[in-house]
Amino acid sequence: LNEIKNKQITVLGLGVTGLGIVRFLLSHGLAPKVVDSRKSPPGIDWLKEHAPKLSTHFGNLDDAVLCNSDMIIISPGLSLKIPAIAKAIESGVEVIGDVELFARINTKPVVAVTGSNGKSTVVTLAYEVLKAAGYKVALGGNIGTAVLDLLNDDYDVFVLELSSFQLDTSSSLKPISATVLNISEDHLDRYDSYQAYIDSKLSIYNNAELVVTNTDDIQTTPISHSSAPHVSFGSEQGDYHLAEHNNELHFIVKGEAFLPVSTLAVVGKHNYLNTLAVMALLNPFDITKEQYTTALCQFNGLAHRCQFVDEQNGVKYFNDSKATNVGATIAAIDSLASDHENLIVIAGGDAKGADLSALKPYIKSHAKALVCFGKDANKLAALSCKSHLVSNMQEAVALAKVLSKRGDIVLLAPACASIDMYNNYMQRGDDFVSCVKAAQL
Ligand code: ADP
Repeated sequence: LNEIKNKQITVLGLGVTGLGIVRFLLSHGLAPKVVDSRKSPPGIDWLKEHAPKLSTHFGNLDDAVLCNSDMIIISPGLSLKIPAIAKAIESGVEVIGDVELFARINTKPVVAVTGSNGKSTVVTLAYEVLKAAGYKVALGGNIGTAVLDLLNDDYDVFVLELSSFQLDTSSSLKPISATVLNISEDHLDRYDSYQAYIDSKLSIYNNAELVVTNTDDIQTTPISHSSAPHVSFGSEQGDYHLAEHNNELHFIVKGEAFLPVSTLAVVGKHNYLNTLAVMALLNPFDITKEQYTTALCQFNGLAHRCQFVDEQNGVKYFNDSKATNVGATIAAIDSLASDHENLIVIAGGDAKGADLSALKPYIKSHAKALVCFGKDANKLAALSCKSHLVSNMQEAVALAKVLSKRGDIVLLAPACASIDMYNNYMQRGDDFVSCVKAAQL
């Protein structure tokens, strides 16, 4: 911290991350300037109460004189391409994220996870496994607690979920193990190209002591080979993979049947892959089969991720509102589909510029209907002749009820962000759940 003691620091963005940064700096006797483009950002009340003397600027960033700072600590919600920020970078201001500040201070092992889908599930399961093995473990980053808030306690190990935006503003992280779980089109509204998004994800391997890649997704393998040891996971290939053993599907670890997949309380092939990723990431730690069994049996998955909602008249309802891109929706369809067209998929929202066509074969093979609403409803509906257009969740659920028969599954897996109609994916998922429950006959 000595290195920033006498610098003029600006904290840019006052959400969960920004508040974490402000709290951390204040607790170390540093008084940053706080800037947000919103007139009334979410953390404003906390700031007024706890640090009323800090210099602030809320509103148009062009007027924030960012160029006068020595260092900007930026929240991941803000793009480096915003003109006022780009101008500050150009004039020599150092712009870093909270993860970078954390990495410069932290001395404990970090398990780092990125990818388009499955990050939260993987870090949560890794956290549970390490806890079952007796480690004092912290979970944070893009999930729950901001990383700087974690430095207040004395942990043995940190498990961090990192978004591409967080990776773009950090370079000092030296993870004990790091993975890019998978890559599918997402956030194309924030990157110049798909390749730029991939490169951002792959930067998690820089300085990693163990590189963990996915054999099912070649994009997760870095082109420039670092000298760091490397392990892989995948459905059929890799150091960690899935295979039948004694007529039962098992997690295979380095050639040996480690545990049956039925040990895991949650289902779906994508969750088996997530578990293999956890096993590969935790390779540097001492964890027994019994400790794995304890954690895997107790892991019930996270809310809004292929979550069972209700069964009505023989029809099951699943909420996968967190499927905010095409890859996640495909995984959800894959894990719930049977060999006939048993799914009624509700999708829609803001596709963030993504190409949706990869969904086509999955809808064709497994869905009896695709019900679409929201900003990009027309684009989704164009994927299939089984599509229906509606105006909102209530209509979508009502139609799904009419279209479904005993044995069918109604799945909310939007393939899109929720921001066109909701505050976030949680609110969208909650709306689905309440429409399902309200529609009960
Ligand atoms: P993230 O934190 O990356 O958004 P989550 O664990 O919250 O990931 O899961 C988000 C969605 O992605 C889930 O709703 C699920 O449908 C899908 N998903 C989870 N794991 C995987 C995986 N390994 N591959 C593809 N999709 C996945």
